[in-house]
Amino acid sequence: MLNIGTHHTLSTSLETIGAAFAIFEMPPDSPSQAILVTANSAFEEISGRAVAVCIERPLTEFLPRYLEKALRGCLAHCLAEQEPQEIEIVVERSGTSRWWRLVASPLKPADAERQRVIATLVEITERKLLEQQLEIARQRFEAVVENGYDAVITVDEQQSIKLMNEAARYLFGVAGEDVIGTPLSRFIPARFHGKHTEYMTSFRDSPLSSRPMESRSAVRGLRTDGTEFPIEVSIAKIRVGNHIEMTAVIRDISERARLIDELSRAATHDSLTGIFNRRLADSALKSEISRSLRFNHAMTVALFDLDRFKQINDTFGHACGDRVLQAVAKKVAAGLREIDVFCRWGGEEFLVVLPETTLDNAAIWAERTRALIAAEPVIGPGDERIEVTASFGLATLQRSAPEADDLITRADHALYRAKQNGRNLVVRA
Ligand code: GH3
Ligand code: MG
Ligand code: MG
Repeated sequence: MLNIGTHHTLSTSLETIGAAFAIFEMPPDSPSQAILVTANSAFEEISGRAVAVCIERPLTEFLPRYLEKALRGCLAHCLAEQEPQEIEIVVERSGTSRWWRLVASPLKPADAERQRVIATLVEITERKLLEQQLEIARQRFEAVVENGYDAVITVDEQQSIKLMNEAARYLFGVAGEDVIGTPLSRFIPARFHGKHTEYMTSFRDSPLSSRPMESRSAVRGLRTDGTEFPIEVSIAKIRVGNHIEMTAVIRDISERARLIDELSRAATHDSLTGIFNRRLADSALKSEISRSLRFNHAMTVALFDLDRFKQINDTFGHACGDRVLQAVAKKVAAGLREIDVFCRWGGEEFLVVLPETTLDNAAIWAERTRALIAAEPVIGPGDERIEVTASFGLATLQRSAPEADDLITRADHALYRAKQNGRNLVVRA
């Protein structure tokens, strides 16, 4: 029926079909021409004109020129192969685009004159628009991720890398390499592998969709060249179908960690001599006192002060004075135990906390140290030979007056007497 009918005989039954529908016939003398035999009114959405005026006209006359090539190709192919062919076409009319899926099926030829193809067209505009939006979103995501300053890595549940942006490849030293599909563990120091897997599992199962990993230098990255560096990581998960993907935004915080280390060192150390400062000494003194009292152990402190230091400054200059302070601190530090706390108490005055040390033993240490300081002159920046001596005051912890202030005051009095008695001396409180 369809292979021999005309518009007149077929059109009524075609109207019952929901989709746009058309039959084309290819004349044997010019098979590239496709003449419209009949179509239903839904086809007018594509042709843009009444079906009646298109009947028995070649499709070139009523379809947009930009569709011609694809359509004629599809129809010709369908006839040549005697198999259904499928294409997607887009029709733009007054500024809006609509998409259709066209399925062309060959009709069994009734005779050599009638080579016909049925075209069924289903509108797919909505799906196409969604696809377009998806593509825009994807491109936007890619632009943000690829051009961003922060490193981004996405992994699947097996912790295999699905995405690693330029910044991440640069950060981990894999700039030119194809890393997709390789395990994330290659960028984590081996000692953290177990902990990391545990973390990822707990995050996967948690109701949270994003969370920061512990910040500061607790989290560390591993570069391809084997070097480690502190990182700050925040991680988000998304469900992709049945799978979960986790995306980490990673920041190199080497500089921040270095600054924090520097600041915390500055908070407890003296910048000129590198030994502890008074702030650290105060807290060390208190904790050593309470420990010694609790265990009923001996503890002694030594305050020592460089003799006539003002004169050294006046004679050799302030830079030489600084050099003397550094040299003395170094000499004294070399003779101390791990448990002793040595700090610059202020100016040219130093405090040594000697845990587990009786007054007698502290005096032996102090005498040795006094002699060591006096034994050799300090050599100044301009090769000056600077004679230095120091006076020591010792005080040992007493249960009757266990405050840090008491201890220091007694040591200070002893030091004063050492100065009074001629300097370069050790005096016990
Ligand atoms: P004494 O034997 O009685 O201790 O005499 P002194 O000259 O050492 O005592 P004084 O307290 O009069 O002088 C201490 C000097 O130490 C004064 C100060 O300018 C100097 N001084 C303090 N801190 C520094 C420093 O960081 N560098 C230098 N070069 N000098 C310092
Ligand atoms: Mg002095
Ligand atoms: Mg002084």
